[in-house]
Amino acid sequence: ATADPLLRIDNLEVSFGAVRALKGISLDVREGEVIALVGANGAGKSTTLRSISGLARAKSGTITFAGTVINKRTAPQIVRLGIAHSPEGRRLFGGLSVAENLRLGACTRTDPDGVARDTERMFVLFPILRERWRQLAGTLSGGEQQQLALARALMAAPKLLLLDEPSLGVAPLLVRHIFDALAELKRQGMTMLLVEQNIALALELADRAYVLRTGKVALSGIASELRSDDRVAQAYLGAA
Ligand code: ATP
Repeated sequence: ATADPLLRIDNLEVSFGAVRALKGISLDVREGEVIALVGANGAGKSTTLRSISGLARAKSGTITFAGTVINKRTAPQIVRLGIAHSPEGRRLFGGLSVAENLRLGACTRTDPDGVARDTERMFVLFPILRERWRQLAGTLSGGEQQQLALARALMAAPKLLLLDEPSLGVAPLLVRHIFDALAELKRQGMTMLLVEQNIALALELADRAYVLRTGKVALSGIASELRSDDRVAQAYLGAA
């Protein structure tokens, strides 16, 4: 028998006033999987992640995480259940140091030894953070800020990591570096749901992918197979 997925979304609908951002999305993420969510601007990728972490409200449908229905829970409750979100645009505390931003990522934890160990792990994954330790987050480069945002999310010791556009605003050389770190996290067994404009990078890292188009799943499958599937490009470019 196959185990229940860690995350299951059934028929999720989200609206902002008259705008139907999600029109009945279903997907699942199994433990240890990396799942990519791709699609054109406005397809609903960020809204999907924001619904999972309690920042956008479902009109209908359910989101189940580790057997618990979470779509009526608050964002802080959802963090405590084990979901961390590295949001689009990073949303760091620019006036606080790297150290303080990381500490805030761990603020729901009550295991100081574990927090200290995870801080050391972050220095291995993202060595630049040790060098910038006392520096204000707002003074870091785009790529450094992105690494800090990822590390801050990881400091919550999540069971599921939501990543929104980790390559956005990052110099090409650092994008490779960030995706190498994500590949290392995957090797360590981290379960991830990744929104990424760069489809090639996303499909290289992911096990499976869902292609969203105007609030619906247009296509889904094994990432390595979707890489050579013309329908992926059509989902971006094709007429409605
Ligand atoms: P992008 O890469 O541009 O962020 P996306 O696939 O993540 O695209 P969403 O940001 O999820 O798409 O947006 C889906 C739809 O919902 C769009 O039509 C967007 O304009 C709308 N939308 C998203 N958030 C809001 C909001 N807070 N208020 C009103 N409309 C919103």
